[in-house]
Amino acid sequence: MAKNIFSTNYTLGILGGGQLGKMMLYTTRKFDIRTKVLDPSPDAPGQFGANEFAVGSLQDYDTVMAFAADCDTVCIEIEAVNVQALRDLRAQGKKVHPNPDSLELIQDKTKQKQFYADHHIPTSRFEMVADKSAFEEARDRWPIPFVWKAATGGYDGFGVVVCRSENDVQNIPDAPGMLEAFVDFELEVSVIVARNESGEVKIFPVADQEFHPTANQVEYVLCPSVLSEEMQHKAEEIAIKTAEAYDICGLLAVELFVTADGEILVNEVAPRPHNSGHHTIEACYTSQFEQHIRAVLDLPLGSTELKAAGVMANLVGGEGYNGDVVYEGYDELLGEPGVNIHIYGKAQTRPFRKMGHVTVIAKDRDEARKRAEWAKNSILVKSKQS
Ligand code: ADP
Repeated sequence: MAKNIFSTNYTLGILGGGQLGKMMLYTTRKFDIRTKVLDPSPDAPGQFGANEFAVGSLQDYDTVMAFAADCDTVCIEIEAVNVQALRDLRAQGKKVHPNPDSLELIQDKTKQKQFYADHHIPTSRFEMVADKSAFEEARDRWPIPFVWKAATGGYDGFGVVVCRSENDVQNIPDAPGMLEAFVDFELEVSVIVARNESGEVKIFPVADQEFHPTANQVEYVLCPSVLSEEMQHKAEEIAIKTAEAYDICGLLAVELFVTADGEILVNEVAPRPHNSGHHTIEACYTSQFEQHIRAVLDLPLGSTELKAAGVMANLVGGEGYNGDVVYEGYDELLGEPGVNIHIYGKAQTRPFRKMGHVTVIAKDRDEARKRAEWAKNSILVKSKQS
């Protein structure tokens, strides 16, 4: 177990300085753990709060190797990093989490699916298609509705084409991906699992996700879940099994579909803090960000118990606004008990870009949901020029 790392030269390197990296730094500052951040953007939200910030490509082997040369432990806040560099850093004796082999599988949605099939982890039926002509060939086996997903490069619903009509099929690009059975789910939930090298495992309470009606993006995350205890337990068991199969150190966020007849299927995973865990900052004894830092440094994990019901709403760029961001309407929220505003520090807004979030904690979830909707609608994310 890594000991004596508070107020020492023991160095943690974080690959990626977006909002997730920024929120990890709350913990490294709290514990005074020396931390470096690498991000391709000089405007990255994670540039402040680290002991060192470097600008460079996360995908470039030499850049990652040079950045991590004086790090003792390296972790990520985004999957799109150079895996060979992570392997070679491990070979040099550094701690690297998540393990590079699992990260490589997770980077490709088709490999993820194959992994679930190989490990008897429940997931929807799928077929890989290398390009558009392979897709055309597979079409007679895939009546509408079905879902096409890009193997790599998709996020926040980009790279996913839900085909409910032949019209939708026209939107499928000529790229490697897969066809997936359409799941007529009742609910999407997530379970965030933390594991450290010493073998400790802790899970955060199941959180429900509500999607924006048109943007194919999470709008609200609600905790506790509306699922029965038995179903929550089933979801937790699947999430733990998945984290163990990948042999994850750190966090694994497991996104799950729950169907009307009680089936629970893994949709996808992320080996890092996740949008579906932001409410844990205020609603749980230990936040997902602190748990991630504890887990990758092999520190004892914290309690994940809920202190209150929490509902998180993403604050995204308003439609019709592009450019230098301005926020309006937050004044009256700042005096409201249980309302917590987070602004990530991105200079530029564009429609639906994640610019911040607001978490409302309250005695019960319905009240938190109501107040979160009100808070979300009160804050306007605009630009100086439209
Ligand atoms: P991303 O990595 O962009 O978040 P996801 O795989 O999570 O992509 O897909 C985005 C959303 O599309 C999901 O949250 C879900 O609402 C919908 N979706 C994805 N796969 C399926 C499926 N097999 N059946 C029905 N809806 C799906």
